[in-house]
Amino acid sequence: MTSPQPHTSSYYAATANEVTDFAPLRGAQSADVCVIGAGFTGISTALHLSERGYNVHVVEANKVGWGASGRNGGQMIGGIAGETRIAKSLGATGADRLWEMRWAGHDIIRQRVEQYGIRCDFKYGYVDVAINGRHLRALREEFELLERHEFPREFLLLDKNETQQMIGTDAYIGALLNMGNGHLHPLNLCIGEANAAVDSGATIYEGSQVVRIEHGDRPAVVTEHGRISADFVIIAGNAYHAVERKLRGIMFPVNSFIIATEPLAPEQVASVNPQDLAICDPNFVIEYFRLSADKRLLFGGRCNYFGSDPRVIEQNLRPRMLKIYPQLADVGIDYAWGGTIGVPLHRVPQMGKISPNVFYSQGYSGHGVNVTHLAGQILADAVGGTMERFDVFANIKPIRFPGAHRFSKPLVALGVLYYQIRDKL
Ligand SMILES: Cc1cc2nc3c(=O)[nH]c(=O)nc-3n(C[C@H](O)[C@H](O)[C@H](O)COP(=O)(O)OP(=O)(O)OC[C@H]3O[C@@H](n4cnc5c(N)ncnc54)[C@H](O)[C@@H]3O)c2cc1C
Repeated sequence: MTSPQPHTSSYYAATANEVTDFAPLRGAQSADVCVIGAGFTGISTALHLSERGYNVHVVEANKVGWGASGRNGGQMIGGIAGETRIAKSLGATGADRLWEMRWAGHDIIRQRVEQYGIRCDFKYGYVDVAINGRHLRALREEFELLERHEFPREFLLLDKNETQQMIGTDAYIGALLNMGNGHLHPLNLCIGEANAAVDSGATIYEGSQVVRIEHGDRPAVVTEHGRISADFVIIAGNAYHAVERKLRGIMFPVNSFIIATEPLAPEQVASVNPQDLAICDPNFVIEYFRLSADKRLLFGGRCNYFGSDPRVIEQNLRPRMLKIYPQLADVGIDYAWGGTIGVPLHRVPQMGKISPNVFYSQGYSGHGVNVTHLAGQILADAVGGTMERFDVFANIKPIRFPGAHRFSKPLVALGVLYYQIRDKL
């Protein structure tokens, strides 16, 4: 049992619309569905289910959006990691279904922001950048795919000069602008969706770590002071989950970090990102950045660090930021934080059943803003008995890595080193 933790000291926590204060679980409760974890996966699922009339209870160890969902880069990126494998699982007629799934999360987010009036700085506009020729070829392929599917929003291939003009840096040799992707304040989105779920009839408990799941005809979720029995249990703890043994060792917990500068002056904004786009590079040891609503540069990257000391995070990320934007040399850093991403070995998001009425979904490999929202819809469908899309993922068996959790630090460190070398090839 660990004590409930407050939000990490991120820019998002400092600018949250509200501090949620849901009471912990006490005593015995009964529900149609009990969800473990109040990140995007859990909250999105709960909202889908409560909108459909289910009695849903969500049990969160810390706070709504405490995990990766409240700490991430806020980049809403289309596509699902591991698409080649997913396409195989879908079979010959699957290309259109995969295409729909690539963007489904975006539509769910936009629709919820509009329907529930969620204030989360939601904005369209995104650029994939290229560092080498391989990246450029991949961007051209993506461009051709968008063309073939008559993608309804603006998309454009940019050469080095055009990229420089659009995002104020000569660090990249080309880019793909996609106005169908976008960015948002992830913690405020998660809190807004949680409130919408409660308004639709769901119950949320914070500060309630699940210590055990009792399997059976009517499974039960047990915390130190309470217990919820339900027809279905959904495990949505992702990289922070440690209860169910079978979910250990099928994905790596990988750390990613972000720094937020002080608010930029108008001329600095004009120099680095006049069109307010989210930007992401294609490396595994990626860098991603965008402006916040109050015009800070939020600059993120993966690295081999397992702590949370803001000074260490700043020491690592600031030089990387200045390589891209040397014009920000005099700008101060106000926030630095990190979080953990679940990365399956074959990158495909993992959905499945632990037992006939206990489902899980996890491991979105850094594409979670979009894909968690798709996953929530798929899980809600599965509870209702429609397994078609759930089975697409469940049929792709996870690769198990013995000791991946116990030895995660040295393994992740080795993995990051391996990918750093590969990124350079
Ligand atoms: C620094 C960083 C940057 C990122 N940037 C992006 C980005 O720009 N774009 C993008 O698409 N994705 C990004 N991601 C990935 C994305 O944030 C995740 O894929 C997504 O948020 C996962 O959501 P989740 O709900 O599955 O898990 P989480 O948000 O991690 O939520 C899991 C929740 O379960 C709770 N929990 C765990 N175990 C228990 C238990 N036993 N009992 C009760 N509760 C429990 C945890 O407290 C936690 O709140 C980033 C991630 C990080 C860390």
